[in-house]
Amino acid sequence: MQNRQSAIGNRQWETVIGLEIHAQLSTESKIFCGCATRFGDEPNANTCPTCLGLPGALPVLNRRVIELGARAALALGLHINHQSIFARKNYFYPDLPKGFQISQYDQPFSSNGELEIMTAERDDAGHPLEWRPKKIRITRLHLEEDAGKNVHEGLPDVDRYSYIDLNRAGVPLAEIVTEPDFRSSWEAYDYVNHVRRALQWVGASEADMEKGNLRCEANVSVRRAGDEKFGTKVELKNLNSVRFMQRAIEFEVKRHIEVLESGGRLAQETRLWDDRALETRVMRSKEEAHDYRYFPEPDLQPLIVSEEFVEELRRSMPELPESRRQRFTEQYGLSYADASQLVSDRALADYYETAAEASGNPRASSNWIRSELLRELEDNGISAAESPVTAQNLAALVRLIDDAKISGKQGKDVLVEMFRTGKPAHAIIEEQGLVQVSDTAEIDALIDDVIAANPDQLASYRSGKEALLGFFVGQVIKASKGKANPKVVNERLRAKLNG
Ligand SMILES: [Zn+2]
Repeated sequence: MQNRQSAIGNRQWETVIGLEIHAQLSTESKIFCGCATRFGDEPNANTCPTCLGLPGALPVLNRRVIELGARAALALGLHINHQSIFARKNYFYPDLPKGFQISQYDQPFSSNGELEIMTAERDDAGHPLEWRPKKIRITRLHLEEDAGKNVHEGLPDVDRYSYIDLNRAGVPLAEIVTEPDFRSSWEAYDYVNHVRRALQWVGASEADMEKGNLRCEANVSVRRAGDEKFGTKVELKNLNSVRFMQRAIEFEVKRHIEVLESGGRLAQETRLWDDRALETRVMRSKEEAHDYRYFPEPDLQPLIVSEEFVEELRRSMPELPESRRQRFTEQYGLSYADASQLVSDRALADYYETAAEASGNPRASSNWIRSELLRELEDNGISAAESPVTAQNLAALVRLIDDAKISGKQGKDVLVEMFRTGKPAHAIIEEQGLVQVSDTAEIDALIDDVIAANPDQLASYRSGKEALLGFFVGQVIKASKGKANPKVVNERLRAKLNG
C-alpha cells in the first residue's frame, strides 16, 4: 500500500489521533429532572427549575440513564465501575444557566475498554483497500448532562441579539474517550461508525450525527516516525458528519506536516471545520483554555452499580454485531464481506436471518438481499426495518426460483414489483402470467431456431471453441423473453450442439 505520509517531503511522519464522542442516551426524560428530551419542540418548552438552574432546585438521577449507559459500556467492551462520582465542571457560558455542568471526572461510570474494529485505508475514489482488525483502547465512558443551545439564526434582530434554547439542557450524554490510538483518518472514521452501530444495536442511542445526538471531537498531532514523544496537538470541533471528521483530520495532518517541514511551529489550539471552505480555522488558543475546577457534586450521592445489576443487564443484551457476523459465516457459509454487510444494521441482520431460515437457502437469501433488496432500499431511502417486502415474502421468492417456477431473471423483476406494491411473489407471478418454461419441446424449438440463425458460431463451437456455449444459452433465453429455464436450456443445447 502506498504510504500517504511519504507523499509530502521525504521523511516519514506518523499521525496520532484520539477521539471523544458525545452520544445522547435514548431516554424519554432528562438526566436530573422529568422534562422531556423530545427533539424539535418549541424553544424552552421542556424546562423546569432544575434544568433552568434556579436556586434551590435539586437534581434527581434518572435510572434509565444508568441502564442505557451500562448497555453502551458493555457494547464497547468497557468495565463498569462499582462506584462513580458526579462532579461539577465549572465554566461560564450563556447556554449553561447553573454556571457548571454536572459531569464525571476522576471516578467515571466505566473505564478501561478495548475494542477491536475493522478498518481499511481508502483509494482516491474512497474504496476500501484491505480490511484489517485494529485494537482501540477506550479510556472511559462517563455520564453527564448536555448544555443548552445558543441560536444565532432565523429569529428577529439576530445581528444584535443571541437567543438561548434550554430544551437540550439536562439531556443525558455518554462521553466516550479513547487513547491516542488512531494512526490515520480512516481508522478514526471506521471507529466512529463502529461505535455508532454498537450504540444503535443495543438501543443506547440513536447515534444520528445529523440530528446532533452523536457529536465528535478529534485530537490530532503528527510526529516523526519512530519518535516516542507526541507532537503539538490541535482539537477539532464542529464535525457534523463522520465524513467531515475524516476530511478535517486529513486537512490538519497535511497542514501540520507542511508547517513542520517548512521549519515553523504549531500552536496548541482548538479549530473548527468549515464544511463550505473545506478547511479548519482557529476557534481559540490554549491560552484561553479553561480550568474547570472540578469538585464532587454535593447534591448527588455517589453512584453505586451492583454486580447483579450488571449481570442482569449482560444477560438481556442482544447478540453483538461481531459475534453475529462470525456466526453467519459459520452457520450459513457466508463470506466475511457478505456477513459484514448483513450485520451493518441490526434490523438488516434480523431480516436476513428470518429469510435464510424460511427459504432454506441462506446463500441465495444473502445474494438477493445484498444486491437486489438493498438497492431498492437505498433508492427509496428507507431501512430494512421499513422494507415493504417482508423477510418471509423474500424467502418465498427465493423458493420459487429454487423450484424453477420462475427464472432468476424474472425474479429480479418480480422483486421490484413486490417492493412497489407490497404484494407477495406468487400474486405478481399470477397477475403477470410469468412462468418459467421448462417444457423440452418448446425449448428445443427455440434452440433449433437459434442454431439455424448462427451457422458461423456453430462451426466454431464444433471445431473446439466450447466457450461459445454461453453465447447460445444467452440467445435461447433471449428468444424465450427470459422465460426459458436456464438449466434445461443448458442440457438441451449441449446435446444438440454436440449432436
Ligand atoms: Zn427540567
